[in-house]
Amino acid sequence: DSVVHAKGVVRVYGEGDTAVRALHGVDVEIESGQLTAVMGPSGSGKSTLMHILAGLDRPTSGSVTIDGIEITTLGDDALTKLRRQHIGFIFQFFNLLPMLSARDNILLPLTIAGEKADPEFFDTLVERVGLADRLAHRPAELSGGQQQRVAIARALVSRPTVVFADEPTGNLDSRTSGEILDLMRSSVETYGQTTVMVTHDAKAAAMADRVLYLADGEIVKETGRSSQHEIL
Ligand code: ADP
Ligand code: ADP
Repeated sequence: DSVVHAKGVVRVYGEGDTAVRALHGVDVEIESGQLTAVMGPSGSGKSTLMHILAGLDRPTSGSVTIDGIEITTLGDDALTKLRRQHIGFIFQFFNLLPMLSARDNILLPLTIAGEKADPEFFDTLVERVGLADRLAHRPAELSGGQQQRVAIARALVSRPTVVFADEPTGNLDSRTSGEILDLMRSSVETYGQTTVMVTHDAKAAAMADRVLYLADGEIVKETGRSSQHEIL
């Protein structure tokens, strides 16, 4: 069962002589309940692909559906709404709001949507991510690892269809990275959280169900339990 489906995705930046073809017609399906890692050299198109699959950017041509909804024909407002309802984000530099407590940062996606957290789900979530005694702290009073835990809880709190993580361990030391990866893995196990992670981290790839390798704007190789075929 796939929750994000991309077909023939081309992304060209700019026009004319200076145009950069970042993606050359990528076909990919993100399988429900799996952790999918996206790897590849710098400039291979990982961020571009992630932004398109997450509805942050639109392809120049090709088709992308999120939860069965074709995003390429949606207007900006409808796309923003779909993103809020279906997508959670985790960033390399955490992107927390400095003036808000950990609790309010975690609740932000629900606050923006005018919704309230189910108290039981919220308590279990903050317990799982190890923040139960840090909820009143602002980001500056938390370690990098704790800040990323806040970001993970924020991504999970609205129970999104897919969580996209962009180099989630890129700004953390190796021990803390391991803890954050364990946490991401456990959200897949515990909540069946479909997760897509762009990473350079071999340890991250090792715990993924599936790894997509990009080179020069194309998926050149795919490994993992779910892959029907290896292209290389
Ligand atoms: P990666 O995430 O693998 O490093 P990117 O998706 O960031 O790769 O970039 C893919 C290609 O697209 C690169 O050649 C990059 O220079 C180019 N690119 C990315 N974003 C832009 C942009 N906003 N304008 C022009 N070129 C871009
Ligand atoms: P970038 O830093 O990659 O340019 P933006 O700040 O422009 O990203 O945000 C792009 C999208 O990412 C937003 O429309 C929103 O959907 C999502 N996003 C950004 N920051 C947050 C956040 N703190 N919490 C949840 N989603 C966020």
